[in-house]
Amino acid sequence: LNRRLTDFGTTIFAEMSALAVRTGSINLGQGFPDTDGPEAIREAAVRAVRAGHGNQYPPGPGVPELRAAVAEHQQRHHGLAYDPDTEVLVTTGATEAVAASLLALLEPGDEVIALEPYYDSYAACIAMAGGTRVPVTLRPHEGAFRLDLDELRAAVTPRTRLILLNTPHNPTGTVLSREELAAIAALACERDLLVVTDEVYEHLVFEGEHIPLASFPGMRERVVTISSAGKTFSLTGWKIGWITASPELVTAVRSAKQFLTYVSGGPFQYAVAEALRLPGSYFDELRADLRAKRDLLSEGLAEAGFDVYRPAGTYFVTVDIRPLGAEDCFAFCRALPERCGVVAVPNAVFYDHRAQGAPFVRFAFCKRTDVLTEAVTRLKGLR
Ligand code: PMP
Ligand code: GLN
Repeated sequence: LNRRLTDFGTTIFAEMSALAVRTGSINLGQGFPDTDGPEAIREAAVRAVRAGHGNQYPPGPGVPELRAAVAEHQQRHHGLAYDPDTEVLVTTGATEAVAASLLALLEPGDEVIALEPYYDSYAACIAMAGGTRVPVTLRPHEGAFRLDLDELRAAVTPRTRLILLNTPHNPTGTVLSREELAAIAALACERDLLVVTDEVYEHLVFEGEHIPLASFPGMRERVVTISSAGKTFSLTGWKIGWITASPELVTAVRSAKQFLTYVSGGPFQYAVAEALRLPGSYFDELRADLRAKRDLLSEGLAEAGFDVYRPAGTYFVTVDIRPLGAEDCFAFCRALPERCGVVAVPNAVFYDHRAQGAPFVRFAFCKRTDVLTEAVTRLKGLR
């Protein structure tokens, strides 16, 4: 393994899911739903396979049906106009979208500012692209993890090429506000930066609203917006994602994508095109269901004695383990299956400043209500 990757080991999600299987624990670690997305959409994938739609290499940019549906979705949900032919690119999940964007846009030595704690593939992809990551830490303040805009501004140097943003934010559940996004947009313009913004949780917002960074002045030429069907349609195994951006940026990212995967899963693209056109009630119900689960798990974790950071978005809740007499999230998460049959994720893996993340642990609530209820019962036995 080369030096760019040796630091990264095995992704925490694989490690924690293996631990859950090995110990027969409830898996609130890796974020994947335990109920598959809409049956009609799964049927659409079967129909596409049977009809021979996409069984051979689909077009590199994605099938026209899906690109049109992505553009329509951006218009319908966010009021953003994108040309499906030149401003949309289908990717193999948001993961490939992040990788291809960084590989396409970074020169070796370029600095990338990422909000810490950051999703684990960001650090690895920045490294693979030869970039240098510059973390800006979201700090706990009054029950939420907040971005310090002055710290963000201070992190920009002449070598900064781009900001890698994520809102709603995994793992903290923070949803950046209109004011924060406006400030980030202004900073990008002032310092001539690109922004790659990972908005895969765009529909999972319980407090406030998700505003795409692309909707701010000056952003159309600077922003690559990433999303994916995995979270919105509870189909994480399909690995269909997309970017929307200016024609120049799409062309750049496609240059990298063509040599990573060439194209992405054909029949699933047709089904996701249908999913994106589901009525508003689908998105409302998804949000309502997850809001109730967020409340159930957040309240249960508080009763179990944790300090809980109730998330404004995503399907993760972060807790502080110190009230339970623990201070090292790794030791805590490794022991948790033995102690009570639950798996969670140690947030310190998402930090360069490991000590900052040491007291924090993430639980996923995209699980059936009975599973969450049982997990809460078990966690209450910890004290
Ligand atoms: N970005 C973030 C912030 C995520 O939480 C995830 C979830 N796995 C991804 C990207 C990857 O998305 P996908 O499964 O579509 O590759
Ligand atoms: N995004 C999911 C999480 O944060 C899992 C993704 C993965 O396993 N790579 O848990």
